[in-house]
Amino acid sequence: MDGGQEVSETLSVSFLLGSDGARGVVRKLLGLTFVGQTREADQMITGDIHLTGLDRKYWHVWGDPSTIQVGLRPAPIKNDDTVFTFQIFGKQVDHSRLMSNPNEVVDIFRTVTERIDLVYGDIIWFSEFRPTARMVHKFGEGRVFVIGDAAHVHSPTGGQGLNSSIQDAFNLSWKLALVLKNHVLPPKSLSLLDSYTFERLPVISEMLSQTTALLNQTLQAKEGDIKPWARGGVLKQLGVNYRGSPIVLDERTTEDIKGSPYSNEDGRICAGDRSPDAPGLVNSSGKQTRLFDIFKPWLHTVLIFGDDLAPSVLRALRRYPEKTTQTFCIVPREASSSAQLHADAVLEDRGGHAYTGYAVDRARSTVIVVRPDGVIGAVVFGAEGTKQYFDGMFDA
Ligand SMILES: Cc1cc2nc3c(=O)[nH]c(=O)nc-3n(C[C@H](O)[C@H](O)[C@H](O)COP(=O)(O)OP(=O)(O)OC[C@H]3O[C@@H](n4cnc5c(N)ncnc54)[C@H](O)[C@@H]3O)c2cc1C
Repeated sequence: MDGGQEVSETLSVSFLLGSDGARGVVRKLLGLTFVGQTREADQMITGDIHLTGLDRKYWHVWGDPSTIQVGLRPAPIKNDDTVFTFQIFGKQVDHSRLMSNPNEVVDIFRTVTERIDLVYGDIIWFSEFRPTARMVHKFGEGRVFVIGDAAHVHSPTGGQGLNSSIQDAFNLSWKLALVLKNHVLPPKSLSLLDSYTFERLPVISEMLSQTTALLNQTLQAKEGDIKPWARGGVLKQLGVNYRGSPIVLDERTTEDIKGSPYSNEDGRICAGDRSPDAPGLVNSSGKQTRLFDIFKPWLHTVLIFGDDLAPSVLRALRRYPEKTTQTFCIVPREASSSAQLHADAVLEDRGGHAYTGYAVDRARSTVIVVRPDGVIGAVVFGAEGTKQYFDGMFDA
């Protein structure tokens, strides 16, 4: 905008990321399909309203979707504890009437809740909302990509949208950074960027199934039945994984254990899984640290479990671009490191969480490579495996 006037500008860019939301233009201009459904029959009216007299600890729900159900959820607005997000839905809701007569929102709440003690203030905003579950068939084309709601929309049940969108962005951004810094050149760069679709598509597809199932469950809930509102489990997204991705390498788990892209409940820890934390690490100066403080979103982190491997792995890593990796040697509790290391640090696994969390057998030295997005890129047994992983990643 210039002085209130919309102006057009033409830009030449190396890459374009469409993070312009569900109604964005990038997906449409790219010609990506948006496969799925919009459920007109399950539309609701939602908005924010000032309200006092209701505790802010819970999401309150009254009524039944077979007639009218209303809900009030405390809205986390800074310095204002009077704002609630309201929802009205059900077979007997007259949507067009309510949209043109917002004063009737309060009447409906009074009737359904039978709470005469609640004091209603102004409606801040309100809108019609139709549950939609749609996704692209691929997350990009050439040098243009879509992330977040531009690539997928779904029911808000389960609250999966924001984290999924951030994970899209994280999955793509470190790959793009390597390409922009010329650490990866064509044709390798093309397959690295293609892995964005390969890794995220199954995760998002499963997320749409999960949130749609939750929506169905919630819409069928009877008054007083709290079971359909139960959340947790896989919705925490800690099990989201890219097992079987063409850019991860696992020498330890050779059988096909792909399973669900949304949960790794088999208890194993494989390449493609989210890297677990390990508190209770102690460096050579006696300072305590943990893996989540060590991982960096702009670096691959190489964890060498067993210092006998350190010299050969460190030698192998020298051929890759500077400032793309950091290396730590993890030694078991009270074991001293005999290797003359040039790793960034030797860390004693005093709490035992690193060896346990990464399922490393003390009798079998192992290298774990953690990608910049916190996903295990490789589980290998030495310098050869480490080289194989990074040769697939970088143009050395
Ligand atoms: C009712 C409802 C409840 C939800 N509840 C939850 C929840 O509890 N938890 C959760 O995780 N998620 C929830 N979500 C989903 C979450 O809001 C979205 O998944 C998330 O906001 C997606 O982020 P995004 O950046 O991809 O898109 P958006 O947040 O839509 O951002 C896109 C931005 O791009 C801008 N834009 C569009 N076109 C252009 C253009 N041409 N030029 C410049 N800018 C442009 C838009 O103005 C907008 O600011 C909910 C969604 C809804 C509708």
